[in-house]
Amino acid sequence: MEWFSKSIVDEQTTMLTEPFVHDYLRANIWHLRGRDADLLVDTGMGICPLAPQIETPQGKPLLVVATHIHLDHVGSMHEFPWRAGPRHSAAQFEIMDEAVTYAYMFHDLEGGVSKLPKPGWNAADYKIPSAPLTRTLDEGDVVDLGDRQFRVLHLPGHSPDSIALFDEADGLFFSGDAIYDDTLIDSLPDSDRSAYVNTMQRLLDLPIRIGHGGHGPSYDGRRMREIATAYLRQAGNI
Ligand SMILES: [Zn+2]
Repeated sequence: MEWFSKSIVDEQTTMLTEPFVHDYLRANIWHLRGRDADLLVDTGMGICPLAPQIETPQGKPLLVVATHIHLDHVGSMHEFPWRAGPRHSAAQFEIMDEAVTYAYMFHDLEGGVSKLPKPGWNAADYKIPSAPLTRTLDEGDVVDLGDRQFRVLHLPGHSPDSIALFDEADGLFFSGDAIYDDTLIDSLPDSDRSAYVNTMQRLLDLPIRIGHGGHGPSYDGRRMREIATAYLRQAGNI
């Protein structure tokens, strides 16, 4: 069976997701083709192998970036050799403690999958393999694909380690769960609402052309400002 769905976003970009995973945990996986290297932003749940789905030319490096260490973003991280992720949670990628990834939440999640990936598969056995980072990323670092350079932004709130990638030259933004066009989550044990308010204030001024988030549809700068403004309003900061 096909576990992943793939959508062509533009000439350089493909989005993959896991349609049979509970919508709460159905994250977006972004494959961007660069000149000297390809970029993969996040890796889904790791229920089925992701690497065979990502086609890259022979010899071309694929740099995988985890936007944060939650289960729906790092499940298949271990399948790839070049693994970058937030400095804030770097040590945790070796351990993948389910208290940090929240993998335990999936073990008894009602309707966790709508289709079994294989006969006899059981969510209770779900475990994320260790995936030590080969590079850590923090505010101001640059991820270079040759023809594109992404600036790393540290955007805590949803999680303390949330990072995003911003191409200042053309406004392309990979935002992970820091911001996306769907219900934002700020009530996890490691969420921080006041940090999230600061993140939203910062995003109001970020000149993006298009944003590809960890969940939901892609959005433009105007929509991002609407989402950030709505968050600030309900948080009592406007
Ligand atoms: Zn998350």
